[in-house]
Amino acid sequence: MTASNLRPRFWETVPLERMTRAEWEALCDGCGKCCMNKLEDEDTAEVALTNVACRLFDDATCRCSQYEIRHQFVPECIVLKPQNMDRNLYWMPETCAYKLLWQGRPLFDWHPLISGDPDSVHRAGVSMQGRTVPEFEVDDDDWEDHIIEEPT
Ligand code: SF4
Ligand code: SF4
Repeated sequence: MTASNLRPRFWETVPLERMTRAEWEALCDGCGKCCMNKLEDEDTAEVALTNVACRLFDDATCRCSQYEIRHQFVPECIVLKPQNMDRNLYWMPETCAYKLLWQGRPLFDWHPLISGDPDSVHRAGVSMQGRTVPEFEVDDDDWEDHIIEEPT
């Protein structure tokens, strides 16, 4: 899909439910934070972010290395859609474009749709590029040692 498939500034006028597939996908800013493992407290439902990346995450590009066929390898990877936003909000990163729009908030200026540059999310320091460790290198019991504050 190219930018020409996208209606001008669609994120300001088109509700999430009415976006095309191309528009929905373009909303992702590439921060990579949703691809990090999280620790959830069963009692409080509090969620802690770690820098332990999903096995398909590419730390250099900050993207899924097998996005189109990822469920063959990571069946539990969540497919976000308007119908499941409400039940996923609690763990989603604060800067996630889907969460922002769902909550009626604007995108940040560093969002690639606004800046026109896919690297602006990294330059703004809000992505996971270059800060992760692969999950196959960290024992599950040690994830607590990798808890981080969300870069925002
Ligand atoms: S947190 Fe949201 S904006 Fe960031 S990579 Fe995940 S889906 Fe995309
Ligand atoms: S499978 Fe891909 S999109 Fe899903 S969490 Fe892993 S790296 Fe991210």
